[in-house]
Amino acid sequence: MKNKKLFLIIGLIIVLVLGIMFSVYEFILLPSISLKGKNPTIVKYESKYVEKGYSAKYLGKDISKDVIVSGKVNGKKLGEYKIKYKVGKGIFSKTVIRKVLVKDLEKPKMNITKDDVYVCPGSDFVPEKIIATDNYDKKVKTTYYFNNNEKTEVTYQATDSSGNTTVITKKVLYEDKEAPKIEVIGGEEMYIQLGAIYDDPGVKVTDNCDGEIKDVKREGSWDANKLGDYTLTYTAVDKAGNKATATRRVIVSNGVIYLTFDDGPNSGTTNVILDILKEEGVKATFFVTNNGPDELIKREYDEGHTVALHTATHDYSIIYSSDEAYFNDLYSVQNRVKRITGYESKIIRFPGGASNTISRRYNSGIMSRLTKEVVNRGFKYYDWNVSSGDAGSTTQASGVYSNVVNSLRHDRVNMVLMHDIKSYTRDAIRDIIRYGKNNGYRFEKITMDTEMITQRVNN
Ligand code: ZN
Repeated sequence: MKNKKLFLIIGLIIVLVLGIMFSVYEFILLPSISLKGKNPTIVKYESKYVEKGYSAKYLGKDISKDVIVSGKVNGKKLGEYKIKYKVGKGIFSKTVIRKVLVKDLEKPKMNITKDDVYVCPGSDFVPEKIIATDNYDKKVKTTYYFNNNEKTEVTYQATDSSGNTTVITKKVLYEDKEAPKIEVIGGEEMYIQLGAIYDDPGVKVTDNCDGEIKDVKREGSWDANKLGDYTLTYTAVDKAGNKATATRRVIVSNGVIYLTFDDGPNSGTTNVILDILKEEGVKATFFVTNNGPDELIKREYDEGHTVALHTATHDYSIIYSSDEAYFNDLYSVQNRVKRITGYESKIIRFPGGASNTISRRYNSGIMSRLTKEVVNRGFKYYDWNVSSGDAGSTTQASGVYSNVVNSLRHDRVNMVLMHDIKSYTRDAIRDIIRYGKNNGYRFEKITMDTEMITQRVNN
């Protein structure tokens, strides 16, 4: 019995001594490390792990600078990482681990808006195509569901592989809120030539819920025999009562185009232009020189165009050297035309136009005299107010076309300067004619009754 007690006491003493020894070892002989910040530490995907700090003590002394830190965190890879902090040596060393979790905390993004969605009455809801993107996942799980049996609220949802979820809830309204759409066939502005027959091409009306609507009301009218700007108003109403209107201006115009061609005739261009004019039923004016074959001048005349005079040589140094030289040259080309056609043309255009300044080089004031003298002698001269640019600014058919059509105006006579010796003018002429026809112009040739179009004289 006594022995038993003794053993117990001895046992207790041993446990006590061991406990004290352990405590002394753990809390006094071993260094201690304490970590700043949270453990585990969470790092957002694609962010850098920044050391939050630590401190270490040994026997009351700060030995933080002796701590060896090891371990790496790859912020571009989701997962669990370990940072190891170690201080001291052998059995007197201490190690602490910090867990670092690289996590995707960002929600996916969706193309869906929160706006109410309208569904045609009697139709089924058609979900929007969900396009979801995520900072981490290439593919994002998407879905949609109704929040009630009546299907008046829908939720779109996107979830990434880390469980981040975006939801967008919106109202579904079974109503037609959208007005029909009216397409004004042929454009909202139409020019028609005075006296022309015009049929209203009408409109095409489509509705988001009702499809094509045929019942369209038109208000307004036009009188093709009276110059004016008329407005037609089209009205369409869908089954839900949404109303749409559109208007068209019908402008009855007297716009006229004189196509005039200088410097010809010329084989390969003038003949093709004559073919096109014939096909299009358009008459034009050719200011010819002594160049080119006689038969093209004959064709111009026989096919009903005006053969007009530009001068024989088109040589500035000759024609503008003196009044007499000019008239000699002019009569030379007049005689050529008369010889070929039997017609004595008195319709002229000055090379360079009446406004030219090049004549100053040869004879001061000659244009001031000639512009008067030609009229005294029974001629009429025609400058231009639309330039095709084919003698300078462009060498492309598209350039000739746009230069001309962009300068046309409905409220005046359009005297168009072109050169039938240019291939790109030849290649543009059909489109110019078509544009004119489609935009309510009529084409005329110059006659002795045509009012002169004159530029300011500069010499
Ligand atoms: Zn010329």
